[in-house]
Amino acid sequence: MASQIPALPQSYGPRTDSVFSDQSGFYSLDSNVPGLSKVILNKLNMKDYGDYRAAVEGKAKGISFRNYKEMFQKMEETFKFCTGCNKLPEHLSEGQTLKRCVKCLNVYYCTKDCQKKDWPQHKKVCKTLRLVAIDRLVEWLMFTGDLPFPTEKWSKSAAEVKNWDDWLPMQGDLTPCLDTILSGTNMASLWKNASRPRPDDADLRQSLWRIQSEFLSRVLTVGMAVQRFCLDPYAKPLTIHLAGASHNETMGARLTDFDELNHMFPGHQGMEIVMVGPEVVDGPINRPPLRAFGPKQSIYISSYKALYHQFWEDMVEKDEAAKPDIVIGFHPGFHANQGLVEGWLPTLLLLRDYNIPSFFTVYSELELKYSLQILLELEMHIRDSGPNPFTSQKPEQVQACPNKPPVHCNSHYVCFQGLLPEEDFEDPAADS
Ligand SMILES: [Zn+2]
Ligand SMILES: [Zn+2]
Repeated sequence: MASQIPALPQSYGPRTDSVFSDQSGFYSLDSNVPGLSKVILNKLNMKDYGDYRAAVEGKAKGISFRNYKEMFQKMEETFKFCTGCNKLPEHLSEGQTLKRCVKCLNVYYCTKDCQKKDWPQHKKVCKTLRLVAIDRLVEWLMFTGDLPFPTEKWSKSAAEVKNWDDWLPMQGDLTPCLDTILSGTNMASLWKNASRPRPDDADLRQSLWRIQSEFLSRVLTVGMAVQRFCLDPYAKPLTIHLAGASHNETMGARLTDFDELNHMFPGHQGMEIVMVGPEVVDGPINRPPLRAFGPKQSIYISSYKALYHQFWEDMVEKDEAAKPDIVIGFHPGFHANQGLVEGWLPTLLLLRDYNIPSFFTVYSELELKYSLQILLELEMHIRDSGPNPFTSQKPEQVQACPNKPPVHCNSHYVCFQGLLPEEDFEDPAADS
């Protein structure tokens, strides 16, 4: 069996000094299905991670798909391996093909036997993975501009809207809006080109909502963070830094992406969102941060491609960019490996020593636990942590181990500010 697993060339090994959060995730695929990262690169006609990043950043030359059908097919092929025994397509014997689970249309098996043995595990997530497989395709509508759909003015104050159940009723009946997308040409061409039948309309409406919720989750989390630290957007303009902004948040980002904050805080004094990170992707938001306050009652988005502490040295300290009222990080992932901790360390110490209100999100409760440990080791004063009421509703599959429970973006949060006060270290001898 071992001989079927190709040895990875040196260059494919994960580098621990990487500041790219996705690189670590990308290579961790190989710890579950050896060679999967290589298969993905091959399928996408890329030679190494550098190519892959260039493609993600939209800079790649010569990487293009002939048509949407090919694009969707190649995307799907990166998910093709036996969920039971991890066999990749090239390791199958002649005449053998991977068969898809007919219930979720998401995971693959080399034989009936493998599927049978895996069912006790797979049945726990099969239902959710069916949704994941739909969302994976419908997500394309974010790039065509069908999503996000426009939202309504808020009929309640920000303080009254505590979770999705409070937010949704303010939108009224979403059906007509979702049905416009359902009957659109992009939705039609999506299912014409995807190698699976079109799900029914109810499934598609829910999928659209889940993808929209992922988009809004970031905006509402920013609003929640502002309230957690009792910052008052009506009293003064706010500068909000998004530290470690990744390609997820910045690829295809639009200048209007945070406009839901206008609904949340109508008539506010102006807010600037500066997206900072080494993974920031080129686009309309690539414009310099403001030195002073932006226009009232509107959201101004800018970005800067660097590690946050470098941005601070290059821009904030030289008064080229305004100091932040709050710093927010979506999934910094510094618990994942030593390289990422080291990349984040100067930033974390900077946030602590300048006493900056900070709010980070993570993908799961376990990730929260590890992140809290690291923050406590740094003697951060943790103010609050727990489940995020505005977590994304879209389940995300752990690609290389589909039977692991799916995670959700912004599922938990931690907010911290400054150094842990001395009095928190109790002296047991003090009372006696
Ligand atoms: Zn198998
Ligand atoms: Zn299934």
